[in-house]
Amino acid sequence: LSPRLKAPRGTFDVLPEAAAGYARLEQAARGLFERAGYGLIETPVFEETELFERGVGDSTDIVRKEMFTFEDQGGRSLTLRPEGTAPICRAYVEHGMHKLAQPVKLWYLGPFFRHERPQAGRYREFHQVGAEAIGTDSPLADAEMIMLLSDLLAELEVPGVTLRLGSLGSLGARREYLEELRAYLREHESELSREVAERIDANPLRAFDADDEGTREVMASAPRLLDRLEGEDAEHFAAVRELLDGAGIGYELDGSLVRGLDYYTRTIFEFHCDQLGAQSQVGGGGRYDGLVEELGGPPTAAVGWAAGIERILLAIGAPPPEPATDVFIALADGAEPARAMALLTELRRAGRSAELDLGGRSLKGQLKQADRVGARQTLIVEPGGTAQLRDMESGEQREIEPGRVLEEL
Ligand code: AMP
Repeated sequence: LSPRLKAPRGTFDVLPEAAAGYARLEQAARGLFERAGYGLIETPVFEETELFERGVGDSTDIVRKEMFTFEDQGGRSLTLRPEGTAPICRAYVEHGMHKLAQPVKLWYLGPFFRHERPQAGRYREFHQVGAEAIGTDSPLADAEMIMLLSDLLAELEVPGVTLRLGSLGSLGARREYLEELRAYLREHESELSREVAERIDANPLRAFDADDEGTREVMASAPRLLDRLEGEDAEHFAAVRELLDGAGIGYELDGSLVRGLDYYTRTIFEFHCDQLGAQSQVGGGGRYDGLVEELGGPPTAAVGWAAGIERILLAIGAPPPEPATDVFIALADGAEPARAMALLTELRRAGRSAELDLGGRSLKGQLKQADRVGARQTLIVEPGGTAQLRDMESGEQREIEPGRVLEEL
């Protein structure tokens, strides 16, 4: 006996019952984005490794330990995409989209890859749906982004959703604050986890995200950027908040909010779902005003988000069962299969869902199968071309004219 193979750790097969949930989510997202004037973009599943090193940031967890990186036959370093924003900004620059009317509004959906420790809601291959508005620094764009994700979660009836909102200020203003934070962290270095202590210089904000007790205690009284927003950064954030208030979107101000990617500036946000346990974040995003320039484009303000499809599906529970088959076509002993095939095609072309037994079952077995697939009616094709229509609920059966099947159903 050959040994059996399994899907790699942290990955999974999407079987037909689960695929219905993915399809429903995709349909909801497509409708939402079409109504909002966002165009679909698809970028490759792998990119040059440098894109993520530069775009996501060398000091982030994603780049330091979570990327699936490999060398191709030509010796190039490639990486399975861990996120969607850097690739989309790469495409924006590569295709000269800054010459189009701004902002360029895009959405995407697809698989992403991170070498994380798998657990419920955390996988090595997962799916995200996301949106970007590139080429605007207007607070209206921040507010629209948040409203789109809020609407998507509402339409899908994700329960127990809360929104956390913060601001990281612009890159220039942040520099001063980061120095203050570094000084504070150095004062408390002995109480911090080794990982955080090692990254005081490279990525001090990451300390806000740490899980260990010691670091958390230190961070509870750390200086917060949100309290130090000044000038245009403060005005921008106030404008975003006013727009959200006006739209009736509730949020919680969170001065400890930092995101796992380096490129964020100004507004950042996360949507959490209280049904999801440890991995409660269903989606998040923010502004990234420096990223396009970092990737070789002109200075370009932009804002976007990504939401985890598996987490949304987990939060809404098992997807509803697929609609039952309208008609099952069964063959009585000696009936002509070609006749059944013709009826099958006719029904499907008329928009009815119809199935034919492909398993070579006896008539009794076919009626059982019709029950299993939830058929409302079974059409039994008889030798000579006559047919019986059986109501699967009542078991009543009557002869119908084979030429008038559609009318009779
Ligand atoms: P991020 O790109 O880190 O901002 O993540 C955006 C969203 O993607 C998160 O809110 C999660 O819902 C989802 N997500 C991120 N990483 C994973 C993962 N490893 N497995 C499943 N979902 C994930």
